[in-house]
Amino acid sequence: MTCSGNNLILDLYFPGRCEGAAVRAAFISAEGEIRIDEVAAPVPDRGGVVVDVLSCSVCATDAHHFAAGGRELPPSIFGHEWVGTVAETGADVEDLGIGQIVAVTVGSSCGTCPPCRRNLGDLCATTLRQARGRDEAAPPWGGFSDRIAVTASRVMPVPASMPAAARELLEPAAVAYRGVRRARLRMDDLVVVQGGGAIGQFAGQWARLAGAGRVLVVEPSAARRDLAADLGADESVPPEQAFERIAELSGGLGADLVIECTGIAPLVQTGAEMLRRGGRLSLLGYPLEPAAVSVRDWLAREIEVVASMGYGRADTAAAIRFAADGRLRADGMAGMRIGFGGLAATLAGMNDRTIDAPRVVFDPGLDGAPRERATGP
Ligand SMILES: [Zn+2]
Ligand SMILES: [Zn+2]
Repeated sequence: MTCSGNNLILDLYFPGRCEGAAVRAAFISAEGEIRIDEVAAPVPDRGGVVVDVLSCSVCATDAHHFAAGGRELPPSIFGHEWVGTVAETGADVEDLGIGQIVAVTVGSSCGTCPPCRRNLGDLCATTLRQARGRDEAAPPWGGFSDRIAVTASRVMPVPASMPAAARELLEPAAVAYRGVRRARLRMDDLVVVQGGGAIGQFAGQWARLAGAGRVLVVEPSAARRDLAADLGADESVPPEQAFERIAELSGGLGADLVIECTGIAPLVQTGAEMLRRGGRLSLLGYPLEPAAVSVRDWLAREIEVVASMGYGRADTAAAIRFAADGRLRADGMAGMRIGFGGLAATLAGMNDRTIDAPRVVFDPGLDGAPRERATGP
């Protein structure tokens, strides 16, 4: 940091304004390597905000692209699960104040893209581009940073009273909400959640909230199974016991709904085989490789498949509402916290599957705060 003397005092009152002020941002620099750059502190556009990053949970997508050298990943998506406090607002921003806690989201459906013109606003192409960091307004770096500048519509206020554990994981909570919403769960369904990472832990809770009769979480890690039970799953079993238990619970019929949250390609077919005839397979996990499935089996059992990716603005709003009043919980999910210095080892560990924590949370303050944070009024 280059702030000193009078500039240091200026920076206390107007963080990032002193000449040469810099913030840290992480970039994927090569296969399995990251670089922490000091970059000029961002300033907001007229319709934008600058957000001090409080935390950014680490997604499997971050880890996959870290291994691949990040060639296909827009830099704003390396760290896309952030929350923070508004540090600066543009001249045209009226509804967000300095110090307001906000979570990343996407804008409202645009109303003009081809899906919107067909009344398919939930599948808006514009918000999907935003979520994937492929829109013109995407920031030059993501949430593994001290500060990020975005259009004001890309954030949503979070009540200050929300527990930090839930606040930090609002993005995966919204992703899981969309998946369960699209899966059209019916009351009393026997729901199997395959995978006890953050998405699976949230999907199980959303299924309960949506009226599932029983929620069974299938997960090899004992710690994750215990967490699922603590967060309200009726049962959690290791994979080798799954089929037997599903048969017992369903009188030999099979599950009504399987929510695949592992993103492990061969487990797509495994999940399908847990279903009853006419059951529904919800795909939330994101395998990088093609998955071998038996279409013959799917036809014979007339299963339905519903895929879901990302989230819309209303999905974020739902996650905030349910987390704010405690109906959706995340305590115990962020089993590991890291600063800039821990990023590379964590991403490598996620790829090696040596990290058991359902979610790792990055906190830029853990390596020592580089500057004063904006505080609320
Ligand atoms: Zn993600
Ligand atoms: Zn649209």
